Amino acid sequence: MPTRLKETDVVIIGLGAAGGVAALPLAQAGLDVVGVEAGTWLTKRDFAPDELRNNFRGWPQAVQKANQEIPTHRPTAASPYSPRFTIHPTMNAVGGTTMHYWAQSWRLNPWDFKVVSETRRRYGASRIPAGSTVEDWPFGLEDLEPYYDRIEHEIGVSGAAGNIKGMIDRRGNIFEGVRAREYPMPPLRGSGFTDLMAASARALGWHTFPGPAAINSQRYQGRSACMYHGYCNRGGCHVDAKNSTAVTTIPRAQATGRLKITTRAHVTRLDVDGAGRASGVTYVTDGTEYFQPAKVVLLASYTYENTRLLLLSVSKGFPRGLSNNHGQVGRHYFSHAQTAGVTALFPWNTNSWYGLPAQGTAVDDWADDNFDHAGLDFIGGGNLWIYSDRRPIAAAGMSTFGKTTRSWGAEWKAFIAKNADRTNTSYLQKTTLPYESNYLDLDPEVKDPLGFPVTRITADYQANERRLAVFVQDKMEEWYRAAGAIAIERGPIGSMGPSTHAYGGTRMGDNPDTNVVDRWGFSHEVPNLGLLGASVMGTSGARNPTLTAQALAWRTAEHLAKNFNAIANRRA
Ligand SMILES: Cc1cc2nc3c(=O)[nH]c(=O)nc-3n(C[C@H](O)[C@H](O)[C@H](O)COP(=O)(O)OP(=O)(O)OC[C@H]3O[C@@H](n4cnc5c(N)ncnc54)[C@H](O)[C@@H]3O)c2cc1C
Ligand code: SF4
Repeated sequence: MPTRLKETDVVIIGLGAAGGVAALPLAQAGLDVVGVEAGTWLTKRDFAPDELRNNFRGWPQAVQKANQEIPTHRPTAASPYSPRFTIHPTMNAVGGTTMHYWAQSWRLNPWDFKVVSETRRRYGASRIPAGSTVEDWPFGLEDLEPYYDRIEHEIGVSGAAGNIKGMIDRRGNIFEGVRAREYPMPPLRGSGFTDLMAASARALGWHTFPGPAAINSQRYQGRSACMYHGYCNRGGCHVDAKNSTAVTTIPRAQATGRLKITTRAHVTRLDVDGAGRASGVTYVTDGTEYFQPAKVVLLASYTYENTRLLLLSVSKGFPRGLSNNHGQVGRHYFSHAQTAGVTALFPWNTNSWYGLPAQGTAVDDWADDNFDHAGLDFIGGGNLWIYSDRRPIAAAGMSTFGKTTRSWGAEWKAFIAKNADRTNTSYLQKTTLPYESNYLDLDPEVKDPLGFPVTRITADYQANERRLAVFVQDKMEEWYRAAGAIAIERGPIGSMGPSTHAYGGTRMGDNPDTNVVDRWGFSHEVPNLGLLGASVMGTSGARNPTLTAQALAWRTAEHLAKNFNAIANRRA
């Protein structure tokens, strides 16, 4: 029998990007919150500018539960399994994956909330791709805007606004939705290379702007500004300039005296009472089982683990997994098409040894529905992102653009020595839609060390994603050539394996037949169970998910704080 602990108002499973944000409004409202976190505290003393450690060995000093439960993947139900990843897309620590993420902090654009209705209105219903299960969000950008604004100021985001209360400012993204005010900090500075690329885009008649980043461009909340030395691509920041929740919302929630954090606690099950309400969570620390009772449970353990924990939490009332009597847990899964990049070779050095991936220049002209798709064979688009980041091992792995006969030996070494700083690879994030054939479930054979099945991904990019990837690559090639590139290489789109940008599985929507959680993030079937993270998002847009997941987490937590008694006592 697990050791039963003292009941709390709210238990949050996972204190990462989303759970680490939700703790703050709850604690500030005077609720007692327990954060049950698989990882440990890491501090800036744990981080090193070490490519081998960060990018290849996946931070061995952290508790790497995640690396023991890497999802399996097969493109379709009939295909063989893909080779298994060696490191998990996320990590375990207080602060979660915000410890080592790139910290690009994008809002979604207005279209991303209304893909179905806007596509029908502009091009006709036949343009929704066959087999897609995409739905409009239950609310629009205007409803989420106050929460975006709150998060940008709570964690600190550097950027340039493009649309304050309808006033377009060409220094920012002219395609963004209406925002209430400017970012709390000016953008990170550009590099000589990103400035040159921005000028080339403008010469093409495109609009460029510095991307938003949860990295201090100046001293903020008592923490240092960024030093631009880099090596934090999959690494932590040793001066706390990167605004992980471990240095922002979580300590602020602790300061209220209402947040208790239990680290090294591996949640294995969400429990229910006889009435079908969530009663708390069971976790294991060093082989000992504990039961943490709670009036409300918030699950914030990242998309793959959110789905897995629900499917593992089988009970009499939920024989197919918690909140899964409608068979929707694991459905509407998709991961961002971040692949199909474009790499360019220039005849001069770009000096990209300095800088970090969130420091760069963006083009949104070919994202979402910012351009006319009438004569095209896809919907959606991609954000083009050029950034500064070069590390020795990655540089040595550069393409030789067919200019050497071998990838070893004297000729190859001479090429690398001359050209290692003359390449640039763009980051092209593209609209990805959910489809009936793409889903998550439990792997029938592969298990974690505790004996629980890992998540299985059955998913592949469909025709819409493949066509738009080629279109976006064409645009990127045009941009590189305008800037003086002498050779171009295009990456393949590949397949939809485990991703740092994984969406769905517990989608949000008004219809319980097609969605797991309601418009506030609470389960349609278990009223005192909330879901946090991109697992509730039904569309991706063409940009990274975390700021949206954090805005949604604050919104869910605020709704809970305002309606605590009703939610804690509502009958299923
Ligand atoms: C290298 C890299 C770069 C990235 N760059 C960006 C970027 O620039 N912009 C962006 O928007 N996004 C980026 N991302 C993605 C971003 O990190 C994730 O979207 C975000 O962290 C997800 O938030 P989350 O709270 O759902 O999960 P996480 O932040 O991963 O937090 C989940 C937490 O749950 C804990 N947990 C998991 N399972 C259990 C369990 N069973 N019991 C208890 N605790 C558990 C974990 O330890 C973790 O702390 C990047 C990711 C990586 C890896
Ligand atoms: S480049 Fe900036 S964010 Fe990255 S480790 Fe250095 S100071 Fe921190």
